Amino acid sequence: MYKFQCNEIDITIIFPTSVVENLKKFRQTIFKKEAGGLLFCSNPNSNQINISYISSPSIYDIRSKYFFKPDEKISQATIDRLFHQGHYYVGDWHTHPEKVPTPSEQDKKTICDIYIKSNHHLHYVIILIVSSEKDFSKSYVALADGNNLYSCRPM
Ligand SMILES: [Zn+2]
Repeated sequence: MYKFQCNEIDITIIFPTSVVENLKKFRQTIFKKEAGGLLFCSNPNSNQINISYISSPSIYDIRSKYFFKPDEKISQATIDRLFHQGHYYVGDWHTHPEKVPTPSEQDKKTICDIYIKSNHHLHYVIILIVSSEKDFSKSYVALADGNNLYSCRPM
């Protein structure tokens, strides 16, 4: 498993091995399009957030090498369905064709908008940008509220 620690907010995000293996299938190596989806956890009120499920891209998403836009209706249906299975929506993931990904200005705006618009009870939402490298710890993980991103470091 991989753990990322956010010092500013004192929250640890845990990615179990099975989730990481699933995410690595979408690593954006050469010629692959951006992929993305939703992040879910089983314990939204803990300060050790365990990512219990990730959704995969759907055929209705808009994808290119430098762009990924999930279909909103499908996303909402997925959030509702998983809620009934005990998985709580906690954020979004996508890939970049970068070894050490950094969020674009659009990424920052999108995740802060998600925090503001989503119907959730969280103090933040998680953004994950999956590295193109095999080493998942190079991925970008941060917590976002309506204004700021608080980056998390691999432990
Ligand atoms: Zn991005």
